[in-house]
Amino acid sequence: MLERGEVANSWRRERWDSLRLLTPNWLSRLPGLGYEGPDPDGYMTAGEVTDFIERFAAVSRAPVRTGENVTSVRQAEDGYLVTASGGEIACRAVVIASGACNRPSVPGFSGEVPASVEQLTPFDYRDPAKLPDGGVLVVGASATGVQLAAELQRSGRPVILSVGEHVRLPRTYRGRDVLWWMDASGVWDQRYDELEDLTRARRLPSPQLVGTPGRSTLDLNALTAMGVELVGRWAMVRDGRALFSGGLRNMFSLADLKLRRLLDTFDEWALTSGRDGEFGPPERLEPTRVPQSSRLQFDLGSGEIRSIVWATGFRPEYGWLDVPVTDGKGQLRHEGGVVDRPGLYTLGLPVLRRRRSSFICGIEDDAREVIDHLTRHVTMRR
Ligand SMILES: Cc1cc2nc3c(=O)[nH]c(=O)nc-3n(C[C@H](O)[C@H](O)[C@H](O)COP(=O)(O)OP(=O)(O)OC[C@H]3O[C@@H](n4cnc5c(N)ncnc54)[C@H](O)[C@@H]3O)c2cc1C
Repeated sequence: MLERGEVANSWRRERWDSLRLLTPNWLSRLPGLGYEGPDPDGYMTAGEVTDFIERFAAVSRAPVRTGENVTSVRQAEDGYLVTASGGEIACRAVVIASGACNRPSVPGFSGEVPASVEQLTPFDYRDPAKLPDGGVLVVGASATGVQLAAELQRSGRPVILSVGEHVRLPRTYRGRDVLWWMDASGVWDQRYDELEDLTRARRLPSPQLVGTPGRSTLDLNALTAMGVELVGRWAMVRDGRALFSGGLRNMFSLADLKLRRLLDTFDEWALTSGRDGEFGPPERLEPTRVPQSSRLQFDLGSGEIRSIVWATGFRPEYGWLDVPVTDGKGQLRHEGGVVDRPGLYTLGLPVLRRRRSSFICGIEDDAREVIDHLTRHVTMRR
C-alpha cells in the first residue's frame, strides 16, 4: 500500500477544524474494528477519525509505505509498472484507492471574481477567524456548504448561501438517526447494478447533515431561521456581477418530494419488517420555506461580500495514471470497481457497488467483492 503522506492523510490535512463525521460512531466501522468508545450515537471529530484509521492500520497490520507518492502507473507486459517516490514496482494488479475527493471542484467563472474578494475552498478553510470581516457568500448547499454557512453565520458575519440541487434529510426520524434508517431499511445497500439511473446516483450531492452533540437538523429552514440569506444556483459572472438562477421554488419542491418518498420507504419497511411498534409515529417535515424574494444578482465589487467559500463538491485526481481509463469528465470508467483494463481496480468511489460505497462503513463489502475479482484475475494468470 503506497501512501504519499501519512495514514489517514485526508483526515489530517484536508478537513476544517470543526468538522465531525455526519455518520454516527456505531456506523463508523472497518473490517474487524468498530467504535468502542462511550458515545456510540455521537459523531467523531476529524482527529478521532485519524486515530480510528491509524488503529485500523495497526490492528490489520496493513503493509503501508508512507511518504510514497505515486507519480505514474503504466501498463506493462504482465501487469503494471508503478513509479513512486521510492522507485519502480512491477505488479500484476493495481487497486486505485486514492480517494474520491482529492481536489475541490470550483466552477471556471471563479476566475472572473474581482481580486478584492477572497476565495477559499474547503481545503483552505479552517475556521471563521481566517476570513476577512464582512459578508461571505457560500456556494453550494450540500453537507459542506450548510455546515460552513452555519458556522460563519454564528461567527457574526452576514452569510448568503447559493443553493443548487441538494438532498434534504432530518438528523433524526421517529427517534432514530436518519442514517440508522438508511442502514436498517436496506436503502444504503441498494446495489449499483439495480439502480434505475446509476450515473445520476453517482453524481448525487452529499446530504444536508451535520454531526453535532445535540443531533440537530441543518436544513435550509434551519439556516434561514439563523439569518442566512438564500439565493439560487450561481450561474455566471457578468460585468463583475454574480448572476443566480431563479429556480429556488422548484429546487425546494424537488428536494422535499424526494425526502417524502424516502420517509415513505422507511415507514413501509418498518411495517413490512414488523418493527413499526418500536418507533414513534411517522413524521413529515414542514416544506422548505421559499424566501419572499430572492436576489438574482449582486455586485461582487460593492464590498457587501468580502469572501467566497466554494462548497461546490470534490473530484478525484488521476494525473499520475498513464492508462487511458478516465472519461471526458476525469472520472474512472469502471464496472463495480473493475476498471476497463485487466488487473486494474478501484475502491472508495460514490456508489461503486452500493449506495454506501463512499462512506467509511461502505468499504468492507465492496472491498470483499472487488478483491474476489482481483484474486481470480491474479491466479488465472499464474
Ligand atoms: C469533507 C468530507 C466529509 C466526509 N464525511 C464523511 C462522514 O461523515 N462519514 C463517512 O463515512 N465518510 C465521510 N467522508 C468520505 C470519506 O472521505 C471517506 O469515507 C474516506 O475518507 C475515504 O477513504 P479513502 O481511503 O477512499 O479516500 P481518502 O481518505 O481520500 O484517502 C486516499 C488516500 O490516497 C492518497 N493518495 C492520493 N493520491 C496518491 C498518489 N498519487 N500517491 C500516493 N498516495 C495517494 C491520499 O494522500 C489519501 O491518504 C467525507 C469526505 C469529505 C471530503
